[in-house]
Amino acid sequence: MFNIIFIGAPGVGKGTQSAFIEKDYSIAHIATGDMLRKNIEDGTNLGKTAKSYMDKGELVPDSLVIDMLNERIQKDDCKNGFMLDGFPRTMEQAKELDKILAKLNRKIDAVIDIYASDEIIIKRLLNRGRADDNEETIKNRIKVFESQSKPVLDFYKDKVKIIKIESVGTPEEVYAKIKKELDIIKNNGL
Ligand code: ADP
Repeated sequence: MFNIIFIGAPGVGKGTQSAFIEKDYSIAHIATGDMLRKNIEDGTNLGKTAKSYMDKGELVPDSLVIDMLNERIQKDDCKNGFMLDGFPRTMEQAKELDKILAKLNRKIDAVIDIYASDEIIIKRLLNRGRADDNEETIKNRIKVFESQSKPVLDFYKDKVKIIKIESVGTPEEVYAKIKKELDIIKNNGL
């Protein structure tokens, strides 16, 4: 069992790195942004509500995302562990996640704090070109990250091993740094 949380600004490379980790460690990649976009695509009520927030680069209300995550984390593919990409994004989500995990008798093994300069992030996002990847929304998402999501790192500071990684270089180079740290934690935990 290996449970990881990714915390990092939009466009910093969480999704790209998660794909490597998912493969190497055989754990489920849970990206709340992807789950919300799927709900929009499927026209669910959750999707309809979420869209109005996502279009502006605001966070979807905690209760909606927490319920979605709670259900997801109990699926079979999480038995071996999971990697959370885009959750928790607020203090409230972090506190609720703690309660959910306690009930399931699970814990977080590592938090990856991945960062890059705003310049790099904005360039990457504009290249990606998703519906919410226009300059105005990007700027708001970065602001929201700084004010609401970054404090979550403090929540974990004294409880969980935090791996701080600068996301510069090729995806493979960044992943090599992450893997080295994850392997140390994984092997110590055995
Ligand atoms: P990025 O990291 O590039 O912002 P995501 O796909 O993680 O991309 O998130 C896209 C949008 O989905 C966010 O701007 C937000 O509106 C919504 N979202 C995703 N995860 C959460 C969450 N945990 N809490 C609230 N809103 C979320």
